[in-house]
Amino acid sequence: MTKLSLDKILQSQGFGTRKYCRDLVEDGEVSINGEVIRNVKTSFETQGLQFHIFDEDWEFRERVYIVLNKPANFECSRKPSHHPGVLTLLPEQFSWRDVQPVGRLDHDTTGMLLMSDDGPFIHAQSSPKRHVPKVYQATTAEPVTEDLVNLLLKGVKLHDEPELLAAIHCQKLGENLLEIVLEQGKYHQVKRMLAAAGNHCAALQRTTIGKLTLESLELEEGEWSYLTPEQLALLV
Ligand code: URA
Repeated sequence: MTKLSLDKILQSQGFGTRKYCRDLVEDGEVSINGEVIRNVKTSFETQGLQFHIFDEDWEFRERVYIVLNKPANFECSRKPSHHPGVLTLLPEQFSWRDVQPVGRLDHDTTGMLLMSDDGPFIHAQSSPKRHVPKVYQATTAEPVTEDLVNLLLKGVKLHDEPELLAAIHCQKLGENLLEIVLEQGKYHQVKRMLAAAGNHCAALQRTTIGKLTLESLELEEGEWSYLTPEQLALLV
């Protein structure tokens, strides 16, 4: 059980500096259980705390675990250079609390992107030791052939990788549509594997991480949601 003063609570949730959070409270912007609280030093039990600020309801979260259906033309980098960053798709509070993408998708790749401010979680999810399967649907420039599928399953050589890289599962979904499942997360891996196998990736979407499918989340492109404990448990 943790009790914190209201200014500290707001700061921890990403509403700005302590000074700014104090001003918000003193200006009557924050209410709890329908009551405006103007004394910044009023303490509250944080677990399960609901508060209302800027006409929105919020719940205290020690850490946030988010899934975004990433649209094309957004960069996963914290310092994007050519396109807006994915953080611009989330409420500003998440930038203040240092929410970061878990791994990266290319700017033109769409689909499931996890984000969090929990360092150990980010580290564990991105660790190459974990072998979490990730499923991608690749639209290919040339038709998908049986040879292509077999080659990707057998493994292809990328110039900077000592070992052959192979898909753990691969199947043709359409004339120019391929499903490929990878356990590693090497730089541009799907695109480079397709190129090494003599084809070209025209569009790429990540559809599943572990056992959590994008379809089950029912998010439109650009939409995000908090991950429930049940959904987090599927990321294995
Ligand atoms: N492989 C790629 O080539 N790009 C991605 O964004 C993800 C996997």
